[in-house]
Amino acid sequence: MLQVNDLEVRYGAIRAVRGVDISVAKGELVALLGANGAGKSSTLMCIAGAVKPAAGSVHLETVAIGGSSPERIVRSGLATVPENRDVFPDLTVAENLRLGAYIHRRDIQGNKQNLERLLDLFPRLAERAHQAAGTLSGGEQQMLVIARALMARPSVLLLDEPSLGLAPAIVERIYEMIATLKTTGLTMLLVEQSMSTALSVADRAYVMRLGKIEFTGTAAEIRSHTNLGAMYLGG
Ligand code: ATP
Repeated sequence: MLQVNDLEVRYGAIRAVRGVDISVAKGELVALLGANGAGKSSTLMCIAGAVKPAAGSVHLETVAIGGSSPERIVRSGLATVPENRDVFPDLTVAENLRLGAYIHRRDIQGNKQNLERLLDLFPRLAERAHQAAGTLSGGEQQMLVIARALMARPSVLLLDEPSLGLAPAIVERIYEMIATLKTTGLTMLLVEQSMSTALSVADRAYVMRLGKIEFTGTAAEIRSHTNLGAMYLGG
């Protein structure tokens, strides 16, 4: 479904990502792990079109999207939830969600159905549909930005550190949401610093270090690789 080959990202003289290969099959949930500065966000933002690749290719099914504009990439079926959790604070939850359907703006009926589906799937957002998004808790805002990305009806969803800065109980709730999305068959690539959190839902993972993929395997293989946690992820 998503195929990244030999990807390189540079910031001036800094080679933040080097020779990265990642594949995510349909319906799979794959984690991209690594310590601070390993190059995870750069890889994700490059796939999303926010950063241009210096080399390499990105394919979504058979479509080459590497180096395309973010809007074209969203239209091709890939949506991204960035780390910053930006909502439109003065708009309601429902209005924020509708903005996520921008690329389908002429399909009013389809958007209405998708909005209803998402509110059914995430009752916490439904209860707050008419509340200003700026008054939501951090965890609820994270749920909102994930649901808003899904209003674009992506075939692949990229998530950048959804647990960042949230209390453990809230992180658990966000990961329940991700697990629910997995049951709907959504394909996901998830960046996380917290290895145990990501491996609780991921089928497979890639571990990055100094811009390169150092290790890849199933969640079970990564868990049983005793050195990985200590070496790259701070235990
Ligand atoms: P974190 O978990 O802290 O977000 P990360 O694994 O996502 O880390 P990146 O944010 O991709 O890592 O950073 C990889 C490297 O690229 C780091 O050395 C970082 O300083 C550098 N870098 C990232 N963004 C920029 C930028 N806009 N300009 C220059 N260097 C950058």
